Amino acid sequence: MEKTLRVLIVEDSEDAAELLTLELKRGGYHSITQRVETDDDLAASLSKEWDIVLLDYNMPRLNVMTALNRLKQLPYDLPVIIVSAAIGEERAAELMKLGANDYIRKGNLARLVPSIDRELREVEDRRQRKAAENSLNYLAYHDPLTSLANHNAFHLHCAKEISQAGGKAMVMLIININNIRDINNTLGYKNGDLVVKHIGKLVENVLPDNALLARLRGNDFGLLLKGGADTAALLAQKILTSVQQPFVLETLSVDIEIVIGMAQFPEDGNDVGTLLGKANIALQSSIRSGTEYAFYASSQDTVSREHIALLGELRAAIGKNELMLMYQPKIEVRTGHVIGMEALVRWRHPQQGLLPPGQFIPLVERTGLINLVAQWTLWEAILQCQAWQKAGYKIPIAVNLSTRNLQDINLPEQIRGFLETAETPPHLLELEITESVLMADPSRALPLLKRLHEMGINISIDDFGTGYSSMAYLKQLPINEIKIDKTFITSLMRNHGDAVITRSTIDLGRNMGLFVTAEGVEDQHALDGLMVLGCDRAQGYHISRPAPPNDILQWLQNRDRELPGEMIIPSR
Ligand code: C2E
Ligand code: CA
Ligand code: CA
Repeated sequence: MEKTLRVLIVEDSEDAAELLTLELKRGGYHSITQRVETDDDLAASLSKEWDIVLLDYNMPRLNVMTALNRLKQLPYDLPVIIVSAAIGEERAAELMKLGANDYIRKGNLARLVPSIDRELREVEDRRQRKAAENSLNYLAYHDPLTSLANHNAFHLHCAKEISQAGGKAMVMLIININNIRDINNTLGYKNGDLVVKHIGKLVENVLPDNALLARLRGNDFGLLLKGGADTAALLAQKILTSVQQPFVLETLSVDIEIVIGMAQFPEDGNDVGTLLGKANIALQSSIRSGTEYAFYASSQDTVSREHIALLGELRAAIGKNELMLMYQPKIEVRTGHVIGMEALVRWRHPQQGLLPPGQFIPLVERTGLINLVAQWTLWEAILQCQAWQKAGYKIPIAVNLSTRNLQDINLPEQIRGFLETAETPPHLLELEITESVLMADPSRALPLLKRLHEMGINISIDDFGTGYSSMAYLKQLPINEIKIDKTFITSLMRNHGDAVITRSTIDLGRNMGLFVTAEGVEDQHALDGLMVLGCDRAQGYHISRPAPPNDILQWLQNRDRELPGEMIIPSR
Protein backbone atom coordinates (compact mmCIF):
# COMPACT_ATOMS: atom_id res chain seq x y z
CA MET A 1 0.00 0.00 0.00
CA GLU A 2 1.23 3.49 -0.80
CA LYS A 3 2.08 5.74 2.11
CA THR A 4 1.15 9.38 1.83
CA LEU A 5 4.01 11.79 2.38
CA ARG A 6 3.89 15.58 2.46
CA VAL A 7 7.12 16.73 0.90
CA LEU A 8 8.37 20.27 0.57
CA ILE A 9 10.91 20.49 -2.24
CA VAL A 10 13.18 23.51 -2.09
CA GLU A 11 14.72 23.39 -5.56
CA ASP A 12 15.07 25.78 -8.48
CA SER A 13 14.83 23.16 -11.21
CA GLU A 14 11.44 21.77 -12.06
CA ASP A 15 13.05 18.74 -13.70
CA ALA A 16 15.09 17.92 -10.63
CA ALA A 17 11.93 18.15 -8.50
CA GLU A 18 10.16 15.83 -10.91
CA LEU A 19 12.97 13.29 -10.56
CA LEU A 20 12.63 13.35 -6.79
CA THR A 21 8.87 12.80 -6.99
CA LEU A 22 9.41 9.85 -9.32
CA GLU A 23 11.95 8.35 -6.96
CA LEU A 24 9.47 8.67 -4.10
CA LYS A 25 6.76 6.97 -6.13
CA ARG A 26 9.15 4.15 -6.91
CA GLY A 27 9.84 3.79 -3.20
CA GLY A 28 6.13 3.33 -2.47
CA TYR A 29 5.26 6.86 -1.43
CA HIS A 30 2.31 8.80 -2.66
CA SER A 31 3.74 12.26 -2.26
CA ILE A 32 1.95 15.55 -1.92
CA THR A 33 4.61 18.02 -2.98
CA GLN A 34 5.18 21.69 -3.36
CA ARG A 35 8.25 23.22 -4.96
CA VAL A 36 9.62 26.60 -3.84
CA GLU A 37 12.77 28.44 -4.87
CA THR A 38 12.69 31.81 -3.06
CA ASP A 39 12.81 32.72 0.60
CA ASP A 40 9.40 34.38 0.45
CA ASP A 41 7.79 31.31 -1.08
CA LEU A 42 9.52 29.12 1.44
CA ALA A 43 8.22 31.25 4.31
CA ALA A 44 4.70 31.12 2.87
CA SER A 45 4.83 27.36 2.35
CA LEU A 46 5.58 26.81 6.04
CA SER A 47 2.07 27.73 7.05
CA LYS A 48 1.26 24.20 5.91
CA GLU A 49 2.49 21.10 7.66
CA TRP A 50 5.14 18.91 6.07
CA ASP A 51 6.61 15.53 6.85
CA ILE A 52 9.97 16.14 5.27
CA VAL A 53 11.95 18.76 3.33
CA LEU A 54 14.27 18.05 0.42
CA LEU A 55 16.60 21.00 0.15
CA ASP A 56 18.72 21.67 -2.92
CA TYR A 57 22.20 22.81 -2.10
CA ASN A 58 22.71 25.11 -5.01
CA MET A 59 19.98 27.59 -5.93
CA PRO A 60 20.40 30.92 -7.70
CA ARG A 61 17.76 32.80 -5.70
CA LEU A 62 17.98 31.19 -2.26
CA ASN A 63 20.94 30.57 0.00
CA VAL A 64 20.97 27.05 1.46
CA MET A 65 22.00 28.30 4.94
CA THR A 66 19.18 30.84 5.05
CA ALA A 67 16.70 28.14 4.12
CA LEU A 68 18.11 25.66 6.63
CA ASN A 69 17.99 28.25 9.37
CA ARG A 70 14.38 29.00 8.69
CA LEU A 71 13.44 25.33 8.66
CA LYS A 72 15.24 24.55 11.90
CA GLN A 73 13.48 27.37 13.72
CA LEU A 74 10.09 25.77 13.24
CA PRO A 75 8.36 24.84 16.47
CA TYR A 76 8.01 21.24 15.33
CA ASP A 77 10.46 18.56 14.31
CA LEU A 78 10.76 18.64 10.52
CA PRO A 79 13.62 16.61 9.06
CA VAL A 80 15.62 18.23 6.25
CA ILE A 81 17.54 16.19 3.70
CA ILE A 82 20.05 18.09 1.59
CA VAL A 83 20.05 17.05 -2.06
CA SER A 84 22.91 18.25 -4.19
CA ALA A 85 25.53 17.64 -6.80
CA ALA A 86 28.79 16.52 -5.20
CA ILE A 87 29.88 18.72 -2.28
CA GLY A 88 32.88 18.11 -0.07
CA GLU A 89 32.62 16.01 3.10
CA GLU A 90 33.54 19.04 5.14
CA ARG A 91 30.74 21.11 3.71
CA ALA A 92 28.31 18.27 4.29
CA ALA A 93 29.44 17.95 7.89
CA GLU A 94 28.94 21.67 8.37
CA LEU A 95 25.36 21.43 7.09
CA MET A 96 24.63 18.53 9.40
CA LYS A 97 25.95 20.59 12.29
CA LEU A 98 23.49 23.34 11.35
CA GLY A 99 20.68 20.85 11.65
CA ALA A 100 20.40 19.08 8.33
CA ASN A 101 19.40 15.48 9.00
CA ASP A 102 21.00 13.80 6.03
CA TYR A 103 22.76 14.56 2.79
CA ILE A 104 22.38 12.68 -0.49
CA ARG A 105 23.85 13.24 -3.90
CA LYS A 106 21.72 13.82 -6.97
CA GLY A 107 23.71 11.13 -8.73
CA ASN A 108 22.71 8.62 -6.05
CA LEU A 109 18.97 9.05 -5.65
CA ALA A 110 18.59 5.38 -4.74
CA ARG A 111 19.50 6.49 -1.22
CA LEU A 112 16.58 8.91 -1.07
CA VAL A 113 13.81 6.60 0.07
CA PRO A 114 15.86 4.68 2.68
CA SER A 115 17.03 7.99 4.06
CA ILE A 116 13.46 9.30 4.30
CA ASP A 117 12.30 6.08 5.95
CA ARG A 118 14.99 6.42 8.55
CA GLU A 119 14.35 10.10 9.22
CA LEU A 120 10.63 9.48 9.68
CA ARG A 121 11.37 6.70 12.13
CA GLU A 122 13.68 8.96 14.06
CA VAL A 123 11.12 11.76 14.17
CA GLU A 124 8.67 9.27 15.65
CA ASP A 125 11.26 8.08 18.18
CA ARG A 126 12.02 11.63 19.21
CA ARG A 127 8.32 12.39 19.49
CA GLN A 128 7.69 9.38 21.72
CA ARG A 129 10.65 10.14 23.91
CA LYS A 130 9.51 13.73 24.29
CA ALA A 131 5.97 12.64 25.16
CA ALA A 132 7.27 10.24 27.77
CA GLU A 133 9.50 12.93 29.20
CA ASN A 134 6.61 15.41 29.33
CA SER A 135 4.29 13.00 31.03
CA LEU A 136 6.98 12.13 33.56
CA ASN A 137 7.63 15.79 34.21
CA TYR A 138 3.93 16.39 34.74
CA LEU A 139 3.69 13.35 36.98
CA ALA A 140 6.77 14.46 38.88
CA TYR A 141 4.77 17.38 40.26
CA HIS A 142 1.13 16.27 40.15
CA ASP A 143 -0.93 13.64 41.78
CA PRO A 144 -2.56 11.71 38.92
CA LEU A 145 -5.77 10.93 40.80
CA THR A 146 -6.72 14.40 41.99
CA SER A 147 -4.54 16.50 39.64
CA LEU A 148 -3.48 18.40 42.75
CA ALA A 149 0.17 19.15 43.43
CA ASN A 150 2.00 16.09 44.75
CA HIS A 151 4.43 15.97 47.64
CA ASN A 152 7.39 16.99 45.45
CA ALA A 153 5.66 20.13 44.30
CA PHE A 154 4.43 20.75 47.80
CA HIS A 155 7.92 20.50 49.30
CA LEU A 156 9.31 22.91 46.74
CA HIS A 157 6.43 25.34 47.21
CA CYS A 158 6.68 25.30 51.02
CA ALA A 159 10.46 25.68 51.00
CA LYS A 160 10.04 28.77 48.85
CA GLU A 161 7.27 30.22 51.02
CA ILE A 162 9.33 29.64 54.14
CA SER A 163 12.39 31.29 52.67
CA GLN A 164 10.30 34.34 51.79
CA ALA A 165 8.22 34.46 54.99
CA GLY A 166 10.55 36.81 56.83
CA GLY A 167 9.33 35.37 60.13
CA LYS A 168 5.61 35.96 59.35
CA ALA A 169 3.41 33.27 60.87
CA MET A 170 2.24 30.30 58.81
CA VAL A 171 0.59 27.01 59.66
CA MET A 172 1.23 23.61 58.14
CA LEU A 173 -1.88 21.45 57.95
CA ILE A 174 -2.17 17.76 57.24
CA ILE A 175 -5.72 16.79 56.39
CA ASN A 176 -6.34 13.09 56.72
CA ILE A 177 -9.28 10.90 55.69
CA ASN A 178 -9.32 8.80 58.79
CA ASN A 179 -11.78 6.13 57.69
CA ILE A 180 -10.47 5.62 54.15
CA ARG A 181 -9.51 2.05 54.96
CA ASP A 182 -13.09 1.21 55.91
CA ILE A 183 -14.36 2.93 52.79
CA ASN A 184 -11.93 0.97 50.61
CA ASN A 185 -12.81 -2.28 52.30
CA THR A 186 -16.57 -1.88 52.09
CA LEU A 187 -16.99 0.03 48.84
CA GLY A 188 -13.83 -0.95 46.97
CA TYR A 189 -10.74 1.01 45.97
CA LYS A 190 -12.44 2.69 43.02
CA ASN A 191 -14.91 4.34 45.33
CA GLY A 192 -12.15 5.04 47.83
CA ASP A 193 -10.41 6.95 45.05
CA LEU A 194 -13.59 8.90 44.37
CA VAL A 195 -13.77 9.88 48.03
CA VAL A 196 -10.18 11.13 47.91
CA LYS A 197 -10.99 13.20 44.82
CA HIS A 198 -14.15 14.54 46.40
CA ILE A 199 -12.32 15.68 49.52
CA GLY A 200 -9.62 17.34 47.42
CA LYS A 201 -12.34 19.39 45.66
CA LEU A 202 -14.17 20.27 48.90
CA VAL A 203 -11.04 21.53 50.57
CA GLU A 204 -9.97 23.47 47.50
CA ASN A 205 -13.33 25.25 47.53
CA VAL A 206 -12.87 26.69 51.01
CA LEU A 207 -9.23 27.71 50.63
CA PRO A 208 -8.14 31.32 50.57
CA ASP A 209 -6.46 32.47 47.36
CA ASN A 210 -2.84 31.53 46.80
CA ALA A 211 -2.90 28.61 49.27
CA LEU A 212 -1.56 25.45 47.64
CA LEU A 213 -3.31 22.20 48.43
CA ALA A 214 -1.37 19.02 47.71
CA ARG A 215 -2.03 15.34 47.94
CA LEU A 216 0.86 14.07 49.97
CA ARG A 217 0.35 10.34 49.91
CA GLY A 218 -2.59 7.98 50.18
CA ASN A 219 -5.18 9.69 52.31
CA ASP A 220 -3.16 12.74 53.43
CA PHE A 221 -3.48 16.23 52.02
CA GLY A 222 -1.02 18.97 52.86
CA LEU A 223 -1.60 22.69 53.04
CA LEU A 224 0.55 25.63 54.06
CA LEU A 225 -1.54 28.54 55.26
CA LYS A 226 -0.43 32.13 55.77
CA GLY A 227 -1.51 33.41 59.17
CA GLY A 228 -1.51 32.33 62.79
CA ALA A 229 -3.22 29.65 64.82
CA ASP A 230 -6.58 31.47 64.83
CA THR A 231 -6.73 31.65 61.05
CA ALA A 232 -5.81 27.99 60.83
CA ALA A 233 -8.37 26.86 63.40
CA LEU A 234 -11.06 28.75 61.50
CA LEU A 235 -10.12 27.12 58.24
CA ALA A 236 -9.97 23.70 59.88
CA GLN A 237 -13.54 24.18 61.10
CA LYS A 238 -14.66 25.31 57.67
CA ILE A 239 -13.15 22.19 56.11
CA LEU A 240 -14.75 19.94 58.70
CA THR A 241 -18.16 21.56 58.19
CA SER A 242 -18.02 21.24 54.43
CA VAL A 243 -17.21 17.54 54.74
CA GLN A 244 -20.34 16.99 56.82
CA GLN A 245 -22.48 17.39 53.69
CA PRO A 246 -23.49 13.85 52.72
CA PHE A 247 -21.53 12.36 49.84
CA VAL A 248 -23.53 9.86 47.84
CA LEU A 249 -21.80 6.93 46.15
CA GLU A 250 -23.85 4.25 44.38
CA THR A 251 -26.99 5.33 46.27
CA LEU A 252 -25.13 5.03 49.57
CA SER A 253 -24.47 8.11 51.62
CA VAL A 254 -20.85 7.81 52.73
CA ASP A 255 -19.75 9.14 56.06
CA ILE A 256 -16.30 10.64 55.65
CA GLU A 257 -14.18 11.24 58.72
CA ILE A 258 -11.61 13.98 58.45
CA VAL A 259 -8.89 14.69 60.98
CA ILE A 260 -6.48 17.62 60.81
CA GLY A 261 -3.04 18.01 62.39
CA MET A 262 -1.34 21.41 62.45
CA ALA A 263 2.11 22.79 63.21
CA GLN A 264 3.09 26.43 63.39
CA PHE A 265 5.89 28.26 61.68
CA PRO A 266 8.25 29.41 63.06
CA GLU A 267 7.55 28.13 66.62
CA ASP A 268 7.37 24.41 65.82
CA GLY A 269 9.95 24.33 63.08
CA ASN A 270 11.43 26.35 60.27
CA ASP A 271 11.81 23.81 57.53
CA VAL A 272 9.30 21.77 55.56
CA GLY A 273 10.35 18.38 56.89
CA THR A 274 10.11 19.40 60.53
CA LEU A 275 6.78 21.14 60.07
CA LEU A 276 5.29 18.15 58.28
CA GLY A 277 6.69 15.84 60.95
CA LYS A 278 5.13 17.88 63.73
CA ALA A 279 1.82 18.32 61.93
CA ASN A 280 1.81 14.56 61.63
CA ILE A 281 2.47 14.10 65.35
CA ALA A 282 -0.45 16.47 66.00
CA LEU A 283 -2.57 14.44 63.59
CA GLN A 284 -1.81 11.15 65.36
CA SER A 285 -2.51 12.69 68.72
CA SER A 286 -5.79 14.07 67.41
CA ILE A 287 -6.77 10.62 66.16
CA ARG A 288 -5.85 9.03 69.49
CA SER A 289 -7.83 11.55 71.49
CA GLY A 290 -10.81 11.49 69.14
CA THR A 291 -10.79 15.22 68.40
CA GLU A 292 -11.25 16.54 64.88
CA TYR A 293 -8.17 18.72 64.80
CA ALA A 294 -5.13 19.48 66.93
CA PHE A 295 -2.12 21.72 67.00
CA TYR A 296 1.28 20.30 67.69
CA ALA A 297 2.38 20.42 71.33
CA SER A 298 5.71 19.12 72.61
CA SER A 299 3.91 16.85 75.10
CA GLN A 300 2.78 14.79 72.09
CA ASP A 301 6.40 13.77 71.48
CA THR A 302 6.82 11.19 74.22
CA VAL A 303 7.69 8.59 71.61
CA SER A 304 10.91 10.37 70.88
CA ARG A 305 12.27 9.56 74.34
CA GLU A 306 11.84 5.88 73.59
CA HIS A 307 13.67 6.51 70.34
CA ILE A 308 16.70 7.88 72.11
CA ALA A 309 16.88 4.79 74.29
CA LEU A 310 16.67 2.59 71.22
CA LEU A 311 19.62 4.39 69.64
CA GLY A 312 21.78 3.66 72.67
CA GLU A 313 20.86 -0.01 72.49
CA LEU A 314 21.63 -0.22 68.79
CA ARG A 315 25.24 0.79 69.24
CA ALA A 316 25.66 -2.19 71.55
CA ALA A 317 23.56 -4.41 69.30
CA ILE A 318 26.12 -4.27 66.50
CA GLY A 319 28.77 -5.61 68.87
CA LYS A 320 26.42 -8.26 70.24
CA ASN A 321 25.62 -9.57 66.77
CA GLU A 322 21.96 -8.70 67.06
CA LEU A 323 21.74 -7.31 63.54
CA MET A 324 21.08 -9.73 60.70
CA LEU A 325 20.54 -9.53 56.96
CA MET A 326 17.68 -11.03 55.02
CA TYR A 327 17.96 -11.35 51.28
CA GLN A 328 15.40 -10.79 48.57
CA PRO A 329 16.01 -12.05 45.01
CA LYS A 330 15.79 -9.91 41.90
CA ILE A 331 14.95 -11.76 38.71
CA GLU A 332 15.12 -11.01 35.03
CA VAL A 333 11.50 -10.67 33.89
CA ARG A 334 11.98 -12.19 30.44
CA THR A 335 13.78 -15.37 31.53
CA GLY A 336 13.04 -15.69 35.23
CA HIS A 337 16.78 -15.95 35.91
CA VAL A 338 18.05 -14.69 39.23
CA ILE A 339 20.23 -11.65 38.66
CA GLY A 340 20.77 -10.35 42.17
CA MET A 341 19.99 -10.41 45.88
CA GLU A 342 19.13 -7.34 47.93
CA ALA A 343 20.32 -7.31 51.52
CA LEU A 344 17.74 -5.98 53.98
CA VAL A 345 18.72 -5.44 57.58
CA ARG A 346 16.79 -6.67 60.65
CA TRP A 347 17.42 -6.24 64.35
CA ARG A 348 16.84 -9.22 66.59
CA HIS A 349 15.92 -7.12 69.58
CA PRO A 350 16.11 -9.13 72.82
CA GLN A 351 12.83 -7.70 74.17
CA GLN A 352 10.96 -6.40 71.15
CA GLY A 353 11.62 -9.28 68.76
CA LEU A 354 12.59 -8.96 65.12
CA LEU A 355 12.52 -5.25 64.23
CA PRO A 356 12.14 -4.21 60.58
CA PRO A 357 14.50 -1.46 59.35
CA GLY A 358 11.67 1.08 59.34
CA GLN A 359 11.71 0.98 63.14
CA PHE A 360 15.35 1.92 63.63
CA ILE A 361 17.07 2.99 60.38
CA PRO A 362 15.27 6.37 60.18
CA LEU A 363 16.45 7.12 63.75
CA VAL A 364 19.97 5.95 63.14
CA GLU A 365 20.15 7.92 59.91
CA ARG A 366 20.13 11.15 61.85
CA THR A 367 23.30 10.18 63.69
CA GLY A 368 26.82 9.13 62.74
CA LEU A 369 25.92 5.62 63.86
CA ILE A 370 24.52 4.98 60.40
CA ASN A 371 28.07 4.74 59.07
CA LEU A 372 28.77 1.91 61.47
CA VAL A 373 25.57 0.18 60.37
CA ALA A 374 26.59 0.60 56.72
CA GLN A 375 30.02 -0.86 57.36
CA TRP A 376 28.56 -3.81 59.16
CA THR A 377 25.99 -4.38 56.42
CA LEU A 378 28.49 -4.06 53.56
CA TRP A 379 30.96 -6.46 55.12
CA GLU A 380 28.27 -8.96 56.05
CA ALA A 381 26.70 -8.83 52.57
CA ILE A 382 30.04 -9.14 50.78
CA LEU A 383 30.92 -12.15 52.93
CA GLN A 384 27.59 -13.69 52.03
CA CYS A 385 28.27 -13.01 48.38
CA GLN A 386 31.57 -14.84 48.72
CA ALA A 387 29.85 -17.76 50.42
CA TRP A 388 27.31 -18.05 47.61
CA GLN A 389 30.07 -17.86 45.04
CA LYS A 390 31.71 -20.82 46.78
CA ALA A 391 28.40 -22.66 46.65
CA GLY A 392 28.38 -22.10 42.88
CA TYR A 393 26.11 -19.05 42.74
CA LYS A 394 27.78 -15.99 41.37
CA ILE A 395 25.08 -13.56 42.36
CA PRO A 396 25.42 -9.79 42.56
CA ILE A 397 24.44 -8.45 45.93
CA ALA A 398 22.72 -5.11 46.61
CA VAL A 399 23.15 -3.03 49.74
CA ASN A 400 21.04 -0.01 50.70
CA LEU A 401 22.82 3.19 51.69
CA SER A 402 21.58 6.27 53.53
CA THR A 403 22.29 9.96 52.96
CA ARG A 404 25.06 10.14 55.52
CA ASN A 405 26.83 7.15 54.05
CA LEU A 406 27.42 9.08 50.87
CA GLN A 407 29.01 11.89 52.83
CA ASP A 408 31.56 9.58 54.39
CA ILE A 409 34.64 10.07 52.24
CA ASN A 410 36.21 6.88 53.59
CA LEU A 411 33.44 4.77 52.13
CA PRO A 412 35.05 3.88 48.75
CA GLU A 413 38.32 2.76 50.35
CA GLN A 414 36.47 0.73 52.96
CA ILE A 415 34.48 -1.01 50.28
CA ARG A 416 37.59 -1.67 48.23
CA GLY A 417 39.15 -3.28 51.30
CA PHE A 418 36.09 -5.46 51.95
CA LEU A 419 35.93 -6.61 48.34
CA GLU A 420 39.62 -7.46 48.22
CA THR A 421 39.56 -9.34 51.49
CA ALA A 422 36.59 -11.41 50.35
CA GLU A 423 38.08 -11.84 46.86
CA THR A 424 34.88 -10.55 45.38
CA PRO A 425 34.88 -8.58 42.10
CA PRO A 426 33.34 -5.09 42.35
CA HIS A 427 30.70 -5.77 39.72
CA LEU A 428 29.09 -8.21 42.15
CA LEU A 429 28.31 -5.32 44.46
CA GLU A 430 25.43 -2.96 43.87
CA LEU A 431 24.60 0.07 45.99
CA GLU A 432 20.99 1.19 46.25
CA ILE A 433 20.43 4.81 47.05
CA THR A 434 17.24 6.83 47.06
CA GLU A 435 16.88 10.06 45.14
CA SER A 436 16.67 12.05 48.36
CA VAL A 437 20.10 10.79 49.31
CA LEU A 438 21.54 12.57 46.30
CA MET A 439 19.45 15.67 46.60
CA ALA A 440 20.41 16.21 50.24
CA ASP A 441 23.96 17.27 49.41
CA PRO A 442 24.81 16.60 45.78
CA SER A 443 28.15 18.40 45.89
CA ARG A 444 29.45 15.81 48.35
CA ALA A 445 27.47 12.78 47.27
CA LEU A 446 28.18 13.07 43.56
CA PRO A 447 31.99 12.82 43.54
CA LEU A 448 31.75 9.87 45.94
CA LEU A 449 29.26 8.18 43.70
CA LYS A 450 31.51 8.71 40.69
CA ARG A 451 34.43 7.12 42.52
CA LEU A 452 32.36 4.08 43.46
CA HIS A 453 31.11 3.76 39.92
CA GLU A 454 34.62 4.01 38.51
CA MET A 455 35.66 1.20 40.83
CA GLY A 456 33.22 -0.99 38.90
CA ILE A 457 30.48 -1.01 41.53
CA ASN A 458 26.92 -0.81 40.24
CA ILE A 459 24.74 2.05 41.37
CA SER A 460 20.99 1.82 41.58
CA ILE A 461 18.41 4.54 42.23
CA ASP A 462 15.94 3.16 44.75
CA ASP A 463 12.29 4.15 45.26
CA PHE A 464 12.28 5.96 41.94
CA GLY A 465 9.23 8.15 41.45
CA THR A 466 8.83 9.20 45.06
CA GLY A 467 11.59 11.79 45.22
CA TYR A 468 12.39 15.08 43.66
CA SER A 469 14.72 14.26 40.85
CA SER A 470 13.80 14.56 37.23
CA MET A 471 14.92 12.28 34.46
CA ALA A 472 17.00 15.17 33.16
CA TYR A 473 18.91 15.20 36.42
CA LEU A 474 19.36 11.44 36.43
CA LYS A 475 21.03 11.64 33.05
CA GLN A 476 24.03 13.28 34.67
CA LEU A 477 24.49 10.59 37.27
CA PRO A 478 26.79 7.58 37.09
CA ILE A 479 24.11 4.94 37.54
CA ASN A 480 23.26 1.50 36.19
CA GLU A 481 19.74 0.86 37.38
CA ILE A 482 16.54 2.51 38.51
CA LYS A 483 14.07 0.76 40.77
CA ILE A 484 10.49 1.88 40.36
CA ASP A 485 8.98 2.33 43.79
CA LYS A 486 6.68 -0.43 44.97
CA THR A 487 3.73 1.93 45.47
CA PHE A 488 3.47 2.24 41.67
CA ILE A 489 3.80 -1.49 41.10
CA THR A 490 1.35 -2.74 43.72
CA SER A 491 -1.38 -0.64 42.07
CA LEU A 492 -0.08 -1.05 38.51
CA MET A 493 -3.18 -2.87 37.32
CA ARG A 494 -5.63 -0.72 39.24
CA ASN A 495 -4.44 2.83 38.89
CA HIS A 496 -4.01 4.39 35.48
CA GLY A 497 -1.66 7.12 36.73
CA ASP A 498 0.68 4.56 38.25
CA ALA A 499 0.66 2.59 35.03
CA VAL A 500 1.64 5.72 33.09
CA ILE A 501 4.50 6.48 35.46
CA THR A 502 5.69 2.90 35.25
CA ARG A 503 5.54 2.83 31.48
CA SER A 504 7.31 6.19 31.08
CA THR A 505 10.00 5.25 33.56
CA ILE A 506 10.65 1.96 31.80
CA ASP A 507 10.86 3.67 28.40
CA LEU A 508 13.11 6.46 29.57
CA GLY A 509 15.32 4.23 31.67
CA ARG A 510 15.90 1.94 28.73
CA ASN A 511 16.55 4.88 26.42
CA MET A 512 19.23 5.97 28.83
CA GLY A 513 20.76 2.50 28.79
CA LEU A 514 19.75 1.71 32.36
CA PHE A 515 18.30 -1.44 33.81
CA VAL A 516 14.81 -0.89 35.12
CA THR A 517 13.69 -2.94 38.10
CA ALA A 518 10.17 -3.02 39.44
CA GLU A 519 9.92 -3.66 43.15
CA GLY A 520 6.83 -4.73 45.07
CA VAL A 521 5.65 -7.35 42.56
CA GLU A 522 2.98 -9.07 44.59
CA ASP A 523 1.23 -11.25 42.01
CA GLN A 524 1.54 -12.89 38.62
CA HIS A 525 -0.70 -10.20 37.19
CA ALA A 526 1.83 -7.49 37.92
CA LEU A 527 4.68 -9.64 36.60
CA ASP A 528 2.80 -10.24 33.34
CA GLY A 529 2.08 -6.54 33.04
CA LEU A 530 5.74 -5.70 33.51
CA MET A 531 6.72 -8.20 30.85
CA VAL A 532 4.39 -6.45 28.40
CA LEU A 533 5.85 -3.06 29.33
CA GLY A 534 9.35 -4.37 28.65
CA CYS A 535 10.61 -4.03 32.21
CA ASP A 536 14.00 -5.73 32.69
CA ARG A 537 13.85 -6.94 36.25
CA ALA A 538 11.45 -7.59 39.06
CA GLN A 539 11.46 -8.12 42.77
CA GLY A 540 8.68 -8.71 45.25
CA TYR A 541 6.75 -11.04 47.51
CA HIS A 542 5.40 -12.93 44.50
CA ILE A 543 8.94 -13.97 43.58
CA SER A 544 10.21 -14.33 47.09
CA ARG A 545 9.90 -12.58 50.41
CA PRO A 546 13.14 -11.45 52.03
CA ALA A 547 14.58 -14.53 53.77
CA PRO A 548 17.64 -15.59 55.78
CA PRO A 549 20.67 -16.79 53.77
CA ASN A 550 20.04 -20.49 54.32
CA ASP A 551 16.47 -20.28 53.08
CA ILE A 552 17.72 -18.33 50.08
CA LEU A 553 20.23 -21.05 49.24
CA GLN A 554 17.41 -23.58 49.42
CA TRP A 555 15.26 -21.34 47.22
CA LEU A 556 18.09 -21.05 44.68
CA GLN A 557 18.56 -24.81 44.58
CA ASN A 558 14.84 -25.45 44.11
CA ARG A 559 14.67 -22.89 41.38
CA ASP A 560 17.70 -24.37 39.66
CA ARG A 561 15.85 -27.64 39.43
CA GLU A 562 12.77 -26.02 37.90
CA LEU A 563 14.51 -23.45 35.80
CA PRO A 564 18.10 -24.41 35.12
CA GLY A 565 20.12 -21.52 33.78
CA GLU A 566 23.15 -19.40 34.21
CA MET A 567 23.25 -16.55 36.65
CA ILE A 568 23.32 -13.43 34.61
CA ILE A 569 25.78 -10.81 35.64
CA PRO A 570 24.58 -7.34 34.78
CA SER A 571 26.63 -5.45 32.24
CA ARG A 572 24.78 -2.41 31.10
P1 C2E B 1 13.65 -0.77 50.13
O1 C2E B 1 15.11 -0.72 49.81
O2 C2E B 1 12.73 -0.13 49.17
O3 C2E B 1 13.33 -2.30 50.33
C1 C2E B 1 12.18 -2.91 49.92
C2 C2E B 1 11.22 -3.11 51.06
O4 C2E B 1 9.98 -3.56 50.51
C3 C2E B 1 11.66 -4.17 52.05
O5 C2E B 1 11.15 -3.81 53.32
C4 C2E B 1 10.93 -5.40 51.54
O6 C2E B 1 10.69 -6.35 52.52
C5 C2E B 1 9.65 -4.81 51.04
N1 C2E B 1 9.07 -5.59 49.97
C6 C2E B 1 9.70 -6.46 49.15
N2 C2E B 1 8.84 -7.01 48.28
C7 C2E B 1 7.64 -6.47 48.55
C8 C2E B 1 6.33 -6.65 47.98
O7 C2E B 1 6.11 -7.42 47.03
N3 C2E B 1 5.32 -5.91 48.52
C9 C2E B 1 5.53 -5.06 49.56
N4 C2E B 1 4.48 -4.37 50.03
N5 C2E B 1 6.75 -4.87 50.11
C10 C2E B 1 7.79 -5.57 49.61
P2 C2E B 1 12.11 -3.74 54.56
O8 C2E B 1 13.02 -4.91 54.57
O9 C2E B 1 11.23 -3.49 55.74
O10 C2E B 1 12.98 -2.47 54.27
C11 C2E B 1 12.45 -1.18 54.31
C12 C2E B 1 13.46 -0.15 53.92
O11 C2E B 1 14.52 -0.05 54.89
C13 C2E B 1 14.19 -0.48 52.64
O12 C2E B 1 13.38 -0.13 51.56
C14 C2E B 1 15.44 0.33 52.76
O13 C2E B 1 15.22 1.66 52.33
C15 C2E B 1 15.70 0.36 54.25
N6 C2E B 1 16.79 -0.58 54.55
C16 C2E B 1 16.76 -1.93 54.63
N7 C2E B 1 17.98 -2.43 54.92
C17 C2E B 1 18.80 -1.37 55.02
C18 C2E B 1 20.22 -1.23 55.31
O14 C2E B 1 20.96 -2.18 55.50
N8 C2E B 1 20.71 0.05 55.35
C19 C2E B 1 19.93 1.15 55.11
N9 C2E B 1 20.49 2.35 55.15
N10 C2E B 1 18.62 1.04 54.83
C20 C2E B 1 18.06 -0.20 54.80
CA1 CA C 1 16.38 -1.03 48.24
CA1 CA D 1 12.80 0.50 47.16
